[in-house]
Amino acid sequence: MPEKILIIGSSGQIGTELVISLRKIYGNDNVIASDIRPSSKEVMNSGPFEELDIMNEKLLRKIVQHYKINQVYLLAALLSATAEKNIALGWELNMRSHSHVLDLAKDGLIKKIFWPSSIAVFGPTTPKNNTPQYTIMEPNTVYGITKLAGERWNEYYFNNFGVDVRSLRYPGLIGWKGSPGGGTTDYAVDIFHQAIKHRKFESFLSENTKLPMMYMSDAIRATIQLMRAPKKQVKIRSSYNLAGISFTPKEISKEISKHIPKFEVSYNSDFRQKIADSWPCSINDEHAQNDWNWELKYDLKKLTADMIKNLKNI
Ligand code: NAD
Repeated sequence: MPEKILIIGSSGQIGTELVISLRKIYGNDNVIASDIRPSSKEVMNSGPFEELDIMNEKLLRKIVQHYKINQVYLLAALLSATAEKNIALGWELNMRSHSHVLDLAKDGLIKKIFWPSSIAVFGPTTPKNNTPQYTIMEPNTVYGITKLAGERWNEYYFNNFGVDVRSLRYPGLIGWKGSPGGGTTDYAVDIFHQAIKHRKFESFLSENTKLPMMYMSDAIRATIQLMRAPKKQVKIRSSYNLAGISFTPKEISKEISKHIPKFEVSYNSDFRQKIADSWPCSINDEHAQNDWNWELKYDLKKLTADMIKNLKNI
């Protein structure tokens, strides 16, 4: 049976790139994009798109049956900073969307699910450096709480109903195609745009706030690699730690300055500082390396050079 894939939340930062990568592998017509708003031109013009509000379970099931979908990537969510401003919607959207998709598999309509978690599952009591896969997890943001509940939900559905759900705890993601959707690590994308346009940037995180980040092409590769791994290699069903690279606003500014001389950065922390301070500085992802051979390609130097080259060409 051919793979028929539905991406929910295709207009966001990750969806914009993931849809195109999956269409290259599985064929344009086999990857159906969906969102409550139109996706990028590249996504809209290269294959099917359905307008879908993931809260509408009936319509979700109709689309799944119509296209004979067998895999779902659920990307729709309210991100860390946005969810703190609307906790009711954060809880409602992040939890219900997840149940709607897990139930598709429980009811035998689809075979495989990708659902992303985040470093936001960790909290202020988690060890900050080289954070292990299994550790204290007491998130104190609504986003982190929904992600941790989601991870437990994944494992529950796997253990009790045999649902083949796979997940990664993404660090902050940096890419040049899609715009970030309201997370605490968004500064690391905006800094490139501002550096190229104005040679100036005001960071909403303090200069020494170290967070784990990852270049989008590595994140997309990890996602697809995990989804294509043989079932027996996927030993963790809650969600895998994914380390990426850890740096501070000061360190990325210094790297950008090598390409854009006279780049000036100022610091003015806002409410997102508190969220960032509750997250780890660096992550240990040896389980991903050992179970399905994960290997990172982009360090800070390569990521910076690639971002600047691509953004200058737009
Ligand atoms: P995003 O905010 O850029 O995109 C989310 C998309 O979901 C948007 O296009 C939005 O229109 C859509 N959406 C919102 N409500 C919807 C609804 N009711 N029905 C259908 N679609 C709806 O987010 P992203 O950065 O692409 O993240 C995707 C997933 O990855 C999320 O689960 C997020 O928590 C996770 N994640 C992202 C990062 C990151 O740095 N980008 C890091 C960790 C985890």
